[in-house]
Parts: sequence; structure tokens; C-alpha cells
Amino acid sequence: DATVITRTPQTGGIVPLVSAAQICQTYDKGASGSLIVLDKVDVELRPAEIVGLLGRSGSGKSTLLRAIAGLIRPSSGIVTFQGKPVTGPTSGVAVVFQSFALFPWLTVLENVELGLEAQGVVPAERRKRALAAIDLIGLDGFESAYPKELSGGMRQRVGLARALVVHPKVLLMDEPFSALDVLTAETLRTDLLDLWCEGRMPIEAILMVTHNIEEAVLMCDRILIFGSNPGRVIAEIKVDMPQPRNRLDPTFRML
Ligand code: ADP
Ligand code: MG
Repeated sequence: DATVITRTPQTGGIVPLVSAAQICQTYDKGASGSLIVLDKVDVELRPAEIVGLLGRSGSGKSTLLRAIAGLIRPSSGIVTFQGKPVTGPTSGVAVVFQSFALFPWLTVLENVELGLEAQGVVPAERRKRALAAIDLIGLDGFESAYPKELSGGMRQRVGLARALVVHPKVLLMDEPFSALDVLTAETLRTDLLDLWCEGRMPIEAILMVTHNIEEAVLMCDRILIFGSNPGRVIAEIKVDMPQPRNRLDPTFRML
């Protein structure tokens, strides 16, 4: 019995789920001075939208995503989640990494359950929720497999299940498909969009980093174009597709 939530497209004037305001990040490069990676970046994530962050490698996309996730404190600027300042990781915001970031010595089930450990969820409930997330993302039957026994696509499904198991409101994905071959990426992308469009993931908004423009157009409602040196949002594209379902139409292709 999957959670079903209705999604009403929202326009201006509403409280963002996530807001990153005037984010700057500078790294100390020792003798070669300091590197300004992010320069006054503003990003808002509103309910019911998928936002893409598109930019070339090294432009600071991952740094920004980590700051939004509370995994790093930016040099300056403020990130808020539901109006409250983000000062560290929160269970309302989950992250999927490009390299999956699984523990090789843990099974699929254990990797997914781990997402709940920090939350003080009792073991029986942990198991139940982990199995539900595994089932949702199409991994049933692989509960006791180890990451090394799985294909890249399956590993990223574990990464997604581990993120979804905490029932976050916001999902941040850092190039989630770029370590996968084209067909695997397309399958996973379609499955994910399917869950989103059908309201079967209890997620209210997604921010996805990518350097693939086709992927951004296929998945996102809004695309922020990130310029480099230093990283900042230089343009915003609104993807005009009346029904998100249209993106799942197999005849729909950009190229
Ligand atoms: P992207 O995800 O767009 O490829 P990153 O955010 O990973 O970009 O990196 C942006 C720049 O910041 C790069 O030049 C990278 O080398 C540098 N950088 C990232 N993390 C660190 C760090 N922890 N210390 C020093 N430099 C870093
Ligand atoms: Mg990156």
C-alpha cells in the first residue's frame, strides 16, 4: 500500500521547501591562494517541482548540493529547509550520490536500513520500512545481495532506496545516472519519473545535478544553468510540458 500524494503544480508566491540564499564557498589552496567555487548562489526548491542544476564539471554543483544537504557549511550564505536554517544533515532532505556510496560489507537490506539507524527507529520498523523501499525501487529479491554482486543500475537503486527509506520531503541527487551506461540510465530515470508522476514516492521536490542536457529536459520542470569560475546561476529555463506524464511517453525523444 504505497503512499499516494496529489501534486498540484505551484507557481510564485509560495513558501519554498528549500532556499539557498547568497551561498559563497571558498577553498584555501595553500600557496596558490584561495579558490572561489560558489559566488552568491540563490536556489529555491518549491513543492511539486523537479529542478535541474546543469553545469560543466568543476563548476561547483556538488559543493552547492552538499551545502543544501547540510553536509558542509558554506563560507557564507544561508540554507533553509521549510523556513528553518540548515546547520547539518536533516532527515527531511536525502541525498543520492553519483558513486552510490554504499557500504560494500553490508547487504542491500543492511545498507538501506542504515538510512534509518540515526533516526532511532526501532529494528522491526526499520526492517519493514527498508523492505518497502527496496520493493518500491524494484530491488525485491536482492535483499541479501552485496553491492559487488549488483550491476551499476542496481547499486544506484540501493542508493535511492536508502534515500527514500527516511521518507524525506526533498531528494537531492548528484549526477545519479552518470556512472551508468545509457540504457541503464534511461531505465532508472523512467522508473524514477514513473514513481514521481504516480505520487508513489513520498517526496515533495527533487533537485538534480546533471551535466546532461537531455536528461535535464526530460526530468525537470526548471533548469538552472550553472556558470563556472566561480559557480553561479547564469540562466534559468522553464521546461514547458503540460503533463509530466508526457515525458514517460516512449515516443517522446529529444534528439
Ligand atoms: P562539480 O560538481 O560541478 O564538478 P565541485 O563542486 O565538485 O564541482 O568542485 C568545484 C571546485 O571546487 C573544483 O575545482 C574542485 O576541485 C574544488 N573543490 C571541491 N571540493 C573541494 C575541497 N573539499 N577542497 C578543495 N577544493 C575543492
Ligand atoms: Mg560534481
